[in-house]
Amino acid sequence: MPEAIPSYLLALAVGELAFRPLGPRSGLYAEPPIVEAAAWEFADTEKMMAAAERLYGPYRWGRYDLLVLPPSFPFGGMENPRLTFATPTVLAGDRSLIALVAHELAHSWSGNLVTNATWSDFWLNEGVTIYLERRILEELYGQGLADMQAALGLSYLDAALRDLPPADTRLHLDLAGRDPDEAVTDIAYEKGGLFLVELERKVGRADLDRFLRRTFDDFAFRNMTAARFLELVRTRWPDLDAARLGEWVYGTGLPAGAPRPVSAAFRAVETEARAFAGGAPAAGLHTRGWSALEWLHFLRSLPPDLTTERVAALDEAFRFTASRNDELLGEWFPHVIAHRYEPAWPALEEFLIRVGRRKLHEPLWKKLAATPDGLARARAIYRRARPNYHPIAAAGVDEILGG
Ligand SMILES: [Zn+2]
Repeated sequence: MPEAIPSYLLALAVGELAFRPLGPRSGLYAEPPIVEAAAWEFADTEKMMAAAERLYGPYRWGRYDLLVLPPSFPFGGMENPRLTFATPTVLAGDRSLIALVAHELAHSWSGNLVTNATWSDFWLNEGVTIYLERRILEELYGQGLADMQAALGLSYLDAALRDLPPADTRLHLDLAGRDPDEAVTDIAYEKGGLFLVELERKVGRADLDRFLRRTFDDFAFRNMTAARFLELVRTRWPDLDAARLGEWVYGTGLPAGAPRPVSAAFRAVETEARAFAGGAPAAGLHTRGWSALEWLHFLRSLPPDLTTERVAALDEAFRFTASRNDELLGEWFPHVIAHRYEPAWPALEEFLIRVGRRKLHEPLWKKLAATPDGLARARAIYRRARPNYHPIAAAGVDEILGG
């Protein structure tokens, strides 16, 4: 390729791979047994490229292809230029998890074209990409879906703000003497994305789009620091409150009055989760037409004090254990573990052995490790899972389970 890229974007893949075209500039590589299903799942890729170009200018990398990796791939996706590497855990069979493609594609502008100069500003790569991702989704699938993604993102952000030491809730991080991997938290993604949502609300969507497009053009194939980015923002909108801009980037937590995205669809889901918590029968809940995201939010909204019988009733009504959607299973299994719902244990074991994606398995190992008998069962399962895990994933679980 003629374009210059930073070293972290260089990757090689070797395997028995088949190819299916998705559009004139896009295609899909995967192992032969899954190539048809993967091509069907990602059929909207070319439309996403067109939507992104309408918003943020030309796609400058020639082709955009996707490569589906084995389940041991420890991440959701990696935006290697021209060829996104993707986890097979988004092959849900209903195209419900394709936000991942919008995200990795958006990195063709934020991250790959204009790159964070140092890992202290990783939020410039990820926060801007989260914003672009949701704009692409809104263009193609409407505001309802974008709102759900934003509300889900806010719940991840709230959890990160609760769990992280305050110094690590800054967008711009001081990483002196630390592993830059520690910058990979939901702060970079979701607080960064929220910063752009606030900018959008203050200066207007059309103006922010013009600014972003201009920045991608002016800084194409170059890098960017937070200080430079803030300088560009202040120059473009001198009336913005400079202290507040600084607080977003260099301050801890969230500035007072930061946007809190809401989803009308999720409100309705929360009503049903409350009804179930209050004793309503599972089969009587109003769940018709729910998308996978609404089911995800339902599982996240259940109270922690369910009984085993109530968990069984949920499974009987909605067949969570038999789901093909790995993200949904990732939200279901914590209830299985917490309430000792034994009929789902074989599926839980299969999941832990198969799925090497850290975001999906780490919370389950942690949940198991929280009780002595859970820890013993986890160690037995891990002996079978570990040989399949990527070294990065194995290192994380080794630590959780105490070696
Ligand atoms: Zn990303």
